[in-house]
Amino acid sequence: MNVLVINCGSSSLKYQLINSDTEQVAAKGLCERIGVDGRMVYQPAGGEKEITEAPMPTHNEAIRMVLEALVNPKTGVLKSLDEVDAIGHRVLHGGAKLTRSVIVDDYAKQVIRECFDLGPLHNPANLMGIEACMKLMPGKPNVAVFDTAFHQTMPPKAYRYAIPTRYYQKYAIRKYGFHGTSHSFVSGETIKFLGLDRNNSKVIVAHLGNGASISAVKNGKCADTSMGLTPLEGLIMGTRSGDLDPAVLEYICNHENITVSQMLHILNKESGVYALSDNLSSDFRDLEDAMNNGNESAALAIDAFCYRVAKYIGSYAAAMNGVDAITFTGGIGENAGIVREKVLSYFGYLGIKMDPEQNKKRGENFILSTPDSRVTVCVIPTNEELAICRETVELVSRA
Ligand code: AMP
Repeated sequence: MNVLVINCGSSSLKYQLINSDTEQVAAKGLCERIGVDGRMVYQPAGGEKEITEAPMPTHNEAIRMVLEALVNPKTGVLKSLDEVDAIGHRVLHGGAKLTRSVIVDDYAKQVIRECFDLGPLHNPANLMGIEACMKLMPGKPNVAVFDTAFHQTMPPKAYRYAIPTRYYQKYAIRKYGFHGTSHSFVSGETIKFLGLDRNNSKVIVAHLGNGASISAVKNGKCADTSMGLTPLEGLIMGTRSGDLDPAVLEYICNHENITVSQMLHILNKESGVYALSDNLSSDFRDLEDAMNNGNESAALAIDAFCYRVAKYIGSYAAAMNGVDAITFTGGIGENAGIVREKVLSYFGYLGIKMDPEQNKKRGENFILSTPDSRVTVCVIPTNEELAICRETVELVSRA
């Protein structure tokens, strides 16, 4: 089956055409600056990157350009769009109503729309992408794969906030969690890679990228995760603060005479390691270089990031009453040896021992802990597109 995987952001669109039988990517790329001007990157497997600049007022034009590139007689990888069997869409928020992947119908579209205020940057773009594909490829199945779905197995003690019940009842205010496709894929790959018994397994996945979250996965199901109603809760991230005392909001709003929305923008876009490094960078490559050159703010940013990760891992080991495996993934988890080393330095008490030679590796599945470590630690690159492709095939084959 040829599955077109689409991941729409507010002004961007990433895509991959995957052959589900071989799980090979036939072509991939992205459209940027949608609604501003428009720029498309297209790369067929084994071929050169092509860059096309053309107006993209909406996601519709962006998807039209992607489809034209896929069937372009010179560099395309398909003879006609009939060869696309299904489209898999990453959708941020399914709320409490859509708790697993679905073939998109009117009800699914309505729920995605109802969740606009829970995912104001992503859900409208996700729906636009779905509607554009429906218009440009009528009759093809579109599958929505939700970032929140994997976390729907959390028990109430993990997902309820200790605020008046009326807010839960009226507005469904609760922890939802995000990066679910990645946590599901990586925890599943960990179980396979280490030969664990899924029904008797305790895995902690640390997805550390520009956005970062951790999940506790017991017997293959999510027991807890660090992001909340929105992706702001939990770990310190590139530009997001993660956990903080909510009273900080009122204090700063009152003293700086700014609105709650302005403050939330600051907590999402101007905080995290970017803020702790005194606005040096949100990218760990820059922070590591600066730290090695004696920059104290960069060192503090990295230390605080790792400390928060370690605190969450410790609390999830407690939540599951033990842990068999800890897996690092995401741009930082897969590449930044310094972060893995600092995080693991907190876990002598769990009998975790890291192999420094292994820690030099990056970008592949590998075991980071020594054979006598009481808990196995590994690195498994995430592949959300492949996970979306697999979900899409499963749903379409069952329909
Ligand atoms: P992601 O959001 O998962 O794509 O991760 C992106 C982040 O990963 C970047 O902002 C960097 O902080 C980090 N990153 C990517 N490559 C490296 C690397 N080679 N060393 C350290 N950090 C990296």
